[in-house]
Amino acid sequence: AASSHTHAFQAEVKQLLHLVAHSLYSNRDIFLRELVSNASDACDKLRYLAIDDAALWEGQSDLRIRLDFDPQARTITVSDNGIGLSMQDAIDHLGTIAKSGTREFMQQIGDARKADANLIGQFGVGFYSGFIVADRITVESRRAGLPVEQGVRWSSDGTGEFSVEHIRREARGTDVILHLREDADEQQFGDLLTAWKLKSIINRYSDHISLPIEMRKREWDKDKAAEVVREDWEQVNKAAALWARPRGELTSEQYIDFYKQIAHDAEAPLAWTHNRVEGRSEYTQLLYIPAKAPFDLWNREQMAGVKLYVKRVFILDDATSLLPTYLRFVRGVVDSSDLPLNVSRELLQESRDIRAIREGCTKRVLSLLEDLAGSEDQAQRDKYATFWQEFGQVLKEGIGEDFANRERLAKLLRFASTAAESDAQTTSLADYVARMKPEQTAIYYITADTPRAARSSPQLEVFKRKGVEVLLLTDRVDEWMLGSLREFEGKLLQSVARGAASLDALQDEAEKKQAEEAAQTHQALLARMKTALDGMAQDVRISARLVESPACLVVAEGDVSGHLARLLRQAGQ
Ligand code: ADP
Ligand code: MG
Repeated sequence: AASSHTHAFQAEVKQLLHLVAHSLYSNRDIFLRELVSNASDACDKLRYLAIDDAALWEGQSDLRIRLDFDPQARTITVSDNGIGLSMQDAIDHLGTIAKSGTREFMQQIGDARKADANLIGQFGVGFYSGFIVADRITVESRRAGLPVEQGVRWSSDGTGEFSVEHIRREARGTDVILHLREDADEQQFGDLLTAWKLKSIINRYSDHISLPIEMRKREWDKDKAAEVVREDWEQVNKAAALWARPRGELTSEQYIDFYKQIAHDAEAPLAWTHNRVEGRSEYTQLLYIPAKAPFDLWNREQMAGVKLYVKRVFILDDATSLLPTYLRFVRGVVDSSDLPLNVSRELLQESRDIRAIREGCTKRVLSLLEDLAGSEDQAQRDKYATFWQEFGQVLKEGIGEDFANRERLAKLLRFASTAAESDAQTTSLADYVARMKPEQTAIYYITADTPRAARSSPQLEVFKRKGVEVLLLTDRVDEWMLGSLREFEGKLLQSVARGAASLDALQDEAEKKQAEEAAQTHQALLARMKTALDGMAQDVRISARLVESPACLVVAEGDVSGHLARLLRQAGQ
């Protein structure tokens, strides 16, 4: 048509399309999950916007998703009567990657050939996954509220570009039409053009979708001895939100599939907790701990992952109000019975119900972690070790952020220690305390850039000689955490690089005497060194902490530690 325009895909989309077409064949069925989830999102969006603008319903408020196929034309069509797309929406959303996370991901992998399917699973491949099975996708749509002439047809073969044109379209919402690849072996996608196969994919991936998913009725016609397809539709999914069903009815497999779907993760989660909370504030929570850190874990702004529903209606995907920042790795769903449907982001921050939910969710996640860490079952404890390796550094942020739960969090901390050969972070503060010498009053630690640097510090010499354990703190967040973690079960946390006071308790009489005598003998030398180092060192002392090294630097009580000073310098402060 004369009004058809061709546009080039954004560079990242081209990369993504290449990736999708070349590395996802083994997961090809996920295309349907992605398209159904978009259809469901579009319906949720309409329902949400129509709260303020009922005209958007255009007199029809039964939301549903339809799935149809045509074996002759080799097409599969996913339709919804949700919010729909304007021409500009189609250009913006189907030609670029809107999500900043996806863009970051694309930059990170850089060379598309290096990406593996697991990584791809971490973020939704979304709409473009249609090109796993299709060599052309046509989208026909009209945005709710726009006149019928303002429909749009978007079309692309998934290589360099797409075209858009205006069409007349009565129906609100979107049809996504996949033209299945012909180039490939007929067997490869032929099975997708059968009702049973499409139903089985829906049952596997999209059963929790709370809208009806419909397919045409099919019947066996005895006279024709063939299947006939009727004009009317029947529902093929259960349309029961998974989290709203009782725990006893659900299998682990269903929980895991649901997780993979909402978290866009190819791997099963480590653990989950599913509860209905009753009382002053009523809600259901289904929260998961992933087995692997996402690529954007360090982005503290990146808080999507826990979806908020109100009475099964999706409200938003933004965990900022539902969980503290240090639990940003948690994925799942919270469904409130109390909040109003038209709750806004701003209102959320102030809502008392939300505060109760936030506290409740935090407690649940902490108990889940405690259960893993303290389990009788080795397999569960191994899961905690995996969790710590992936997310321990983030959990440490909680020590400074969540005063109310600080003690619980402190028990969950794990450190590398001089008591172990390996540098793995496996020692808890409780383990340390249990191993303390009777005369020992403090929990000793050293901070450094690497476990190796920590272990070879001259400051450890005396502790080694005395057989006193020292925790090796080498994560960037540690100094910050230590600012809020002063003690554990009444024992002070004490840096080995700080003043000598608490070491005295570990010295026997002979050693103390020896040190005093040495100080006497070398008084003149000390005075000369003090003068020579004037302005650089506060004091020069005879020390009992060294065994092999001739000298070491220590920090006065209350001063910024050497390691922190280095970190601050690196950060340009
Ligand atoms: P995501 O769903 O994570 O945003 P997708 O690649 O799946 O990413 O979809 C990209 C965007 O395209 C969506 O955010 C939405 O704006 C638009 N879109 C896709 N499918 C539909 C649909 N059926 N109806 C309306 N908009 C859609
Ligand atoms: Mg999507």
